[in-house]
Amino acid sequence: MATYQIGVLNGDGIGPEIVQATVEVIAAAAEFAGTTTFDFVSLPMGWEGIEKHGEPIPAITKEKLLECHGWIMGPHDSSAYPPEQKEKRNPSGELRHTFDLYANIRPSKTMPGIKSVVGEADLVIFRENTEGFYPDRNMYAGLGEYMITPDIAVVNGVFTRKAAERIAHAAFRMAMQRKRKVTIVHKANVIRLGYGLFLDTCREVARQYPEVQVDDYHIDAMAAHLVRRAKDFDVIVTTNMFGDILSDLAGELVGSLGLAPSINTNDRQAMAQAAHGSAPDIAGKNIANPVGEMLSMVMLLDWLASRHQDQELHRIARLVEQSIMTTIEEGICTRDLGGDATTTEFTAAIIKRIGSGG
Ligand code: ATP
Ligand code: MG
Repeated sequence: MATYQIGVLNGDGIGPEIVQATVEVIAAAAEFAGTTTFDFVSLPMGWEGIEKHGEPIPAITKEKLLECHGWIMGPHDSSAYPPEQKEKRNPSGELRHTFDLYANIRPSKTMPGIKSVVGEADLVIFRENTEGFYPDRNMYAGLGEYMITPDIAVVNGVFTRKAAERIAHAAFRMAMQRKRKVTIVHKANVIRLGYGLFLDTCREVARQYPEVQVDDYHIDAMAAHLVRRAKDFDVIVTTNMFGDILSDLAGELVGSLGLAPSINTNDRQAMAQAAHGSAPDIAGKNIANPVGEMLSMVMLLDWLASRHQDQELHRIARLVEQSIMTTIEEGICTRDLGGDATTTEFTAAIIKRIGSGG
């Protein structure tokens, strides 16, 4: 009987609602599926961290996370933090940079019962998560961006061979388990050194995976291709900012940003985190869509299953995924998907499905 400790970071806005809904669903699936148990360890993040410890990611949170097998993070509303907190790295950046979570993996897949504007699609974006135009504020203090006069801001990007190599390897490894096709997205025709290094390094890595077919597009052309023929893409690898933008686009194209999951990983740790933000406009109203967060947790379960060679975790993941799909197909869903269920009603319906095996 395996027990996994999961660090739980509720976050701001709709964070507590969707994270708690996710925890309930996972606990129900574990109970139904077999002998696995999860120990959910709640740790302060965002406003809760600021109020209790004076920091959006307090030291105690980082310390305890290291004792957990995996983490689930809600969104944060860092634009609303007090000015002295805004000087610091935001909670996602703090965790990504502290723990070097270099790969942000964001799948976009059409689902039965959800309207897609691009027909069927099933692709995964590998976003480099540590540098580019969002470099580590501590490591590159003063270098990232600065004012040279009150009217001129200069913004630098950081592009390293190491970061390109490791995200490319992650993408190609995934491609080997999927359709053996990788698309590199960049803008090497304009930012020649930075994106040039990224592109060249990805192509070098590609040589180690001769079975994988490789092509590449400029980011602007890629945005157009994604809208016109999303079904032709499978694994996409790109830099930090392009991945940020492209994955929101892909998420919305196949249904709704509220459904879009993601996982942040290195080779030792992984953190589930829905692709969307904290949605302060609907916070506390019990109408948020918890599916993006739940499917992020499903990705974390699959990651843990591979890491710990534990097939039961895969079964729990499939049960949760299937129960979400069936519930939506039955027409029970939140307002953003055209339904009228509250977050708690939707979650209860998913749990009921889990109780009957999906
Ligand atoms: P951030 O900078 O934190 O990423 P953002 O500006 O990208 O934030 P979001 O918080 O993602 O914005 O919200 C964008 C819109 O999508 C809002 O109108 C919000 O209500 C809606 N939205 C986001 N997530 C969800 C969700 N899970 N359920 C329902 N609506 C959502
Ligand atoms: Mg956003």
